[in-house]
Amino acid sequence: MADGISGPDLVAGDKLSGVSTYEYDVVIVGAGPAGMCAGMYAGRAMLKAVVLERGFPGGELLNTELIEDYPGFESVLGHELAEKFHTHAAKFGAEFRTSVTVEKVKRLDDGTFETVADNGDRYLSPTVIVTAGGTPVKLGIPGELEYAGKGVSYCAICDGAFFRGHTIAVVGGGDAATEEAYFLTRYAEKVYLVHRRDSLRSSKILQQRLFANPKIEVIWDSVVEAAVGDAAGLLNTLKLHNLKTDERRDLKATGLFVFVGFRPNTGIIADHVNHDDMGYIVTDPHMQTSIRGLFAAGDLRSQLTRQVTTAVGDATTAAIAAEKYLKLIKDGQPEVAIENAGGYSA
Ligand code: NDP
Repeated sequence: MADGISGPDLVAGDKLSGVSTYEYDVVIVGAGPAGMCAGMYAGRAMLKAVVLERGFPGGELLNTELIEDYPGFESVLGHELAEKFHTHAAKFGAEFRTSVTVEKVKRLDDGTFETVADNGDRYLSPTVIVTAGGTPVKLGIPGELEYAGKGVSYCAICDGAFFRGHTIAVVGGGDAATEEAYFLTRYAEKVYLVHRRDSLRSSKILQQRLFANPKIEVIWDSVVEAAVGDAAGLLNTLKLHNLKTDERRDLKATGLFVFVGFRPNTGIIADHVNHDDMGYIVTDPHMQTSIRGLFAAGDLRSQLTRQVTTAVGDATTAAIAAEKYLKLIKDGQPEVAIENAGGYSA
């Protein structure tokens, strides 16, 4: 096991290939709210922890304009909260490595985890916390991929400003669609919310705000069947289908924002891990997966809801449980139940 928090233990480096092997106590995959919180707790426990992130620290916070449901912050910009999380975790000693895409997490025969990055670097650790979140679900309709970036988007905060004065549509009926439709009225002249049923599943407070906004019109019981563009290759029409009346019609719109859920990023786990019907990882109350020593936290975990608050709650438990697991290994009792390990040290 590595000791101290004074920098990576480079245990092997291959000069020819440039591939290196590092040792940590805990490797955290993903730097969204869950990953950053796990990093903070691991750092406080004086564990040698690294957080591997394919982009920048922040995760879904970077795709959300305003956060209004994080206790203590009545209203905070997503990227500001991300910065605060990052600074806080780094202050307690968590090491962040950005632009590192994890390709595989595998438990080796001796129980050590091998986390392999896209550049071939290997990170060895007795425990891993996977907080890799999810990827936006696509509609899978004709034109969706063709007009991606030319009208079709999955990120309101990234692309909203391109639609100043435009008429656009948002698809979905969950928190993301409801919140982002509202956000997009900052730029768009008119926002249609196209939902396949006759009621939204989003929280009541978000619905209330949506219905009160005169720029938003909900198109109920309908799906977008195709996205069609103009000669210049830009989206200009959506083919709508009302599932109740079976009516089909064209809707003129230059933007299509799709918020129909997330698919958990679980593909990096090399071995079979228990998951639910939707593919979300099932954990025990300590956030431990069906693989001993592998913990999961945040949006890729099977649970009732996925919020910043639940992500950090998961991560707190996962980091503390990981610390207890490390203590069991140190004491030569790797198979003993985590709740029977010694106390949390932070
Ligand atoms: P959800 O799974 O909550 O909602 C997905 C929506 O898309 C549903 O309304 C669903 O319809 C609809 N849908 C799914 N597939 C299709 C399809 N093929 N065609 C048309 N419509 C489709 O996902 P979200 O991304 O909204 O939210 C994910 C999680 O993140 C939730 O737990 C949510 O609470 C949380 N979240 C919280 C936020 C906040 O609190 N500020 C902000 C954003 C997300 P149907 O209802 O018929 O199933």
